[in-house]
Amino acid sequence: IYAIGSRNRLPEIPGAADHALSASDWAAAQRLRARLDTLDSGAPVVVVGGGLTGVELAGEFADRGLAVTLAGGGVLAPSVGERGRRATLRQLARLGVDVLAEARVTRVQATQVTVEMDGHERVLPSAATVFATGFVVPELAADSGLTTDGTGRLRTDENLTSFDDERIVGAGDAVAVAGTPLRMSCQAAQPLGAQAAEAVLARIAGDSPKPVDQGFVAQCTSIGRHAATLQFTRRDDSPARAVVTGRLAALAKEAVCRGIVWNIRREAARPGTFSWPRNREVTAGREAVLQ
Ligand SMILES: Cc1cc2nc3c(=O)[nH]c(=O)nc-3n(C[C@H](O)[C@H](O)[C@H](O)COP(=O)(O)OP(=O)(O)OC[C@H]3O[C@@H](n4cnc5c(N)ncnc54)[C@H](O)[C@@H]3O)c2cc1C
Repeated sequence: IYAIGSRNRLPEIPGAADHALSASDWAAAQRLRARLDTLDSGAPVVVVGGGLTGVELAGEFADRGLAVTLAGGGVLAPSVGERGRRATLRQLARLGVDVLAEARVTRVQATQVTVEMDGHERVLPSAATVFATGFVVPELAADSGLTTDGTGRLRTDENLTSFDDERIVGAGDAVAVAGTPLRMSCQAAQPLGAQAAEAVLARIAGDSPKPVDQGFVAQCTSIGRHAATLQFTRRDDSPARAVVTGRLAALAKEAVCRGIVWNIRREAARPGTFSWPRNREVTAGREAVLQ
């Protein structure tokens, strides 16, 4: 089962390789935490990248009393709808995050970051520069001669089986499933993991695996410890009208985070208990309600 996930995508910006921190994996997050622990309250931190990960990082740092600038590189939180985006900006502002949505980072140094915005260069002080500029997958599938998509993800059929060999089954961020474009996320990865196991078991039993039938429910972005934007989505991950913000959304996000760990623990203790709504009619009904 090919499930090697994704990792931080570091753009080729001068100084980034030497000075960029990230939270994209355990080791990187430990290094980031160690650096944050050395900073005094009010120290300047620059978060690079205005996607959902960048927004969450900016909120957490601001909650710790750091002076955060978010250099977004384009539209902030592009995957949420306009209402969700306005709410996200409002909640970041409440925490004192300086959002430079369009600013593009052009150089990273030990204690400062250069950005380009409105045709001008600006230098921002930065005691820690944290990159959240997207994810890439490891080259393992391509290096192994397996069929991959343009980004290096293992291409599988709708049963999660590699086009090259039915003994290779894929799941999670590292795969591209035929006919089902799925955003890299634990929301997609958890059901895919369970389904990959089902595919293997079906083959062992001499049955045909069931095709992937899953979609998205929401994008929930924490903004510090006490606020969040819960953007409900259609099955294809496009934003629906319904948005919940503030403390209620923060509670939902916390429940999601705890739920994920709980699911993993329960699955380890009682294999096969994880379930998810995979019926298109069920999710279509839910979508109608959300509109
Ligand atoms: C900061 C952050 C916040 C996030 N927040 C959310 C969120 O709120 N909601 C959401 O839905 N998603 C979120 N995600 C995304 C989510 O974590 C991933 O989509 C999910 O973990 C993917 O699961 P996976 O099993 O495919 O891969 P991973 O969880 O990345 O696991 C892959 C594993 O494979 C191992 N591996 C890699 N290469 C090899 C190799 N060659 N040999 C052996 N092992 C290898 C890795 O060490 C790792 O243990 C977030 C990610 C980050 C970084």
